[in-house]
Amino acid sequence: MVEEVGADVTYVKPGDFVIAPFAFSDNTCEICRAGFQTACPHGGWYGNTAVGGLQAEVARIPLANGSLVKVPGVNPDTADEALLASLLTLSDVYLTGYHAAFMAQVAPGQSVTVVGDGAVGLGAVLAAKQLGAEQIILMGRHASRTDLGREFGATDVVAERGDEGVAKVLELTGGFGSHAVLEAVGHMPAYEQSYGVVRPGGVISRVGVPQYEPGTRGLRLVVRQERAPGGWPRPGARLHGGRHHAGSRRRHRARQGL
Ligand SMILES: [Zn+2]
Repeated sequence: MVEEVGADVTYVKPGDFVIAPFAFSDNTCEICRAGFQTACPHGGWYGNTAVGGLQAEVARIPLANGSLVKVPGVNPDTADEALLASLLTLSDVYLTGYHAAFMAQVAPGQSVTVVGDGAVGLGAVLAAKQLGAEQIILMGRHASRTDLGREFGATDVVAERGDEGVAKVLELTGGFGSHAVLEAVGHMPAYEQSYGVVRPGGVISRVGVPQYEPGTRGLRLVVRQERAPGGWPRPGARLHGGRHHAGSRRRHRARQGL
C-alpha cells in the first residue's frame, strides 16, 4: 500500500495497492520501453546504503512513477491470502520465469524443458503453460517441488542429472531435444544440461545467475538476457548471403565461455 508520495509522483497516490518489482526504473527510456526495466540506465537495485532494502514492512521506492505497478481493486485488509501470495510472486519469481519463457519465444505446441525446480523454475513452468507449450519437462529432484510443477503444467519430470538426465529428455522428445530450454539454476552442470537437451535451432534462455568461472558471472549477464540458439545453421544456409561467418561463430563461442 502506498503511504506517502513525493512531489513528482503522479502515477500512484496514498491508498493504492502496488507491486514493487525487485529493481527500480524510470519505465520511460528506450531500454525500459523495450521491456528490459532491470537494465534501465537510470534505475538500480535495492539492498544497498543508497537505496535501502525492499524486504521490509516499509520501503522507499525511487522513481516511483516507473518502478511501481498499480493493482486496482485490491484491499490488503480484506483480500484473500492466496491472492496476495500470488501477487507477491509478480514482484520477482514469476516474472523472472515468465521472462525466460518470453525470451525463448515459447509458442503453442512446443516442447519446453525447465532446468531447476526452485521458485523461478516453477514460475517458468507456469509461464510455458500460459504461452501454450505442449510438452513441459521439469528437471529437478525435490519431489515436493516437482509435484507442484506437475500441478502447474509440467507434463514430465526428470530427476536424473548429467548425461543420464540429458538422455531422459532426449528420449521424451523423440531424440530431438526441446525447442526452448529455460535454465533457472545458474550452476555449470545446469548449463551443460541445458546444452544437452536443446534441439538444433532451439533456444536456451538463462535466468539462473551464473555462479561459475570462466564466463560472465553475476547478474549482468542475466539482466542482458543473452539468448543462445542451440545448434549452428548449416554452413551457407542463411548467414551473410551464403557465406558462413566464422567471426560471429567465434564470438558466440566466446560469449558462452567455450
Ligand atoms: Zn529506463
